Amino acid sequence: MRLSLVLLFSGLATGCRGSSSSPLPPRLLLVSFDGFRADYLQNYEFPHLQNFIKEGVLVEQVQNVFITKTFPNHYSIVTGLYEESHGIVANSMYDVVTKKHFSDMNDKDPFWWNEAVPIWVTNQLQENRSSAAAMWPGTDVPIHNTTPSYFMDYSRSVSFGERLRNLTTWLSSSNPPVTFATLYWEEPDASGHKYGPDDKDNMHRVLKEVDDHVGELVHQLKVLGLWDSLNVIITSDHGMAQCSKDRLINLDLCIDPADYTLVDLSPVAAILPKKNRTKLFYELKVCDSHMKVYLKEDIPARFHYQHNDRIQPIILVADEGWTIVLSKSSLKLGDHGYDNSLPSMNPFLAARGPAFHKGYKHSTINTVDIYPMMCHILGLKPHPNNGTFGHTKCLLVDQWCINLPEAIGIVIGALLVLTTLTCLIIIMQNRLSGPRPFSRLQLQDDDDDPLIA
Ligand SMILES: [Zn+2]
Repeated sequence: MRLSLVLLFSGLATGCRGSSSSPLPPRLLLVSFDGFRADYLQNYEFPHLQNFIKEGVLVEQVQNVFITKTFPNHYSIVTGLYEESHGIVANSMYDVVTKKHFSDMNDKDPFWWNEAVPIWVTNQLQENRSSAAAMWPGTDVPIHNTTPSYFMDYSRSVSFGERLRNLTTWLSSSNPPVTFATLYWEEPDASGHKYGPDDKDNMHRVLKEVDDHVGELVHQLKVLGLWDSLNVIITSDHGMAQCSKDRLINLDLCIDPADYTLVDLSPVAAILPKKNRTKLFYELKVCDSHMKVYLKEDIPARFHYQHNDRIQPIILVADEGWTIVLSKSSLKLGDHGYDNSLPSMNPFLAARGPAFHKGYKHSTINTVDIYPMMCHILGLKPHPNNGTFGHTKCLLVDQWCINLPEAIGIVIGALLVLTTLTCLIIIMQNRLSGPRPFSRLQLQDDDDDPLIA
């Protein structure tokens, strides 16, 4: 009795986050290797990443959000929202009311980011916690007047090693402690664009470098004694499709440049008509069979890409591997942004640490599910979001999850055992009672008495 009371009270103490008797709060590092297509894991060797996965969990395919571009998907990971809800609807945007422009070179205005609250801001509002970012889209912007306590201004010329050094310093010595951190790296996206994902030799070289970076990360965390206590998620924003100069859609051959403003080009073009929207729409409709043309109100619901002023009146969506161009455009050999139901557009997720199971493989979750899972790990109350925490329960040690195929297997197995046991019992009973010897039916004396007197 006394022991159970002690256990109960110690359980209550550890269950109350932030109480003075509790140990260090849970900590989480979120890593993104931009443009890491899910099937690279099957088609190339990743000794360091596979070791990481062996000690943790793997989600083979993450269903990301449309449009499958870098800024929008990175913001969905840290907010749990579709693009129409968090407001970063493309890498290039235009706001008709304020006449403001957004691009990957001009992204520091909080106006664009303030429609949502990223997890590093929420984490920092908790007592005695801070956040850190060795780059991640939006982390060098004062969103709701808050940046992470520790962050780097974005520069693609800063090496992976320098980002990692800053990050591990912040993780190991800051006060209040850094409990949420991000690390971002531009590969294999940059090489995927340059060479195309089908260029096996170049992709092999680049993916080996990415794997070596995973090795450096793990090594550093071990050296600094962070490896056992830190939860680490390694994921990505999108995949990559092979493009070709033989698969071009030239808008200049279909519509007059004087009739519209081009806000974004490929593979999802955002068109702001200057005068007659209907005329422009019908000209685009017959432009090319490898491109879908939507008026904003007719964009398919499954894209969750309609209810935001930054989504333009007409959008064009190229088929996988096709590129929308103007006469003067240059071509990339690989690109992303296409329909998020295409496997080539989906990334993966791997995670390891005290919050995660060991050696568990899961087929799929959504990008928007990552946010509620991270909030759960950190003990944060999530903002309203489009994710489903239940989708990630099987990854977590503190959750009970039903895996449907396993559950069906267990039920069938239990029925088989019960049937076998029942049969055995019936056979045994028959054997024990044995065959009855034959005997003549004995009539008793009063058997002759009439039933009715
Ligand atoms: Zn890219």
